[in-house]
Amino acid sequence: MKINPVPLFSLKSNRFTCPHCQQESDQVWLNVYAEPVNNPAGVPLRIEGEGLQQLAQNPQFPPDVREQKVAYWNKVNSGDVFLDRWAPVQTDLFVAGMELSVCRSCTGLAVWLGGKLVT
Ligand SMILES: [Zn+2]
Repeated sequence: MKINPVPLFSLKSNRFTCPHCQQESDQVWLNVYAEPVNNPAGVPLRIEGEGLQQLAQNPQFPPDVREQKVAYWNKVNSGDVFLDRWAPVQTDLFVAGMELSVCRSCTGLAVWLGGKLVT
């Protein structure tokens, strides 16, 4: 009897070697939906450099909230892609050909374009 090895990475499986923790792990697949960027500049929001320093000292937020916000933007600015709860959205713009997988072991997020893992 031939035992099929777990695929290293596969769109057709919900268990494969996680690209983050390198463990053979169960994965949760997510569809991706889109919403137009909604800010006055009309470009994706990024807070970095001087803006991030101002945020870090903004007395409008309690210290723990400031710390959380700075950590969030540092993570985004470092190029991390991760799930975050934001405002609820309602959209019918489905991103065909793009999926996300989330590792049940380490919660690492992987981006898939055209059925291929983006590394
Ligand atoms: Zn993992």
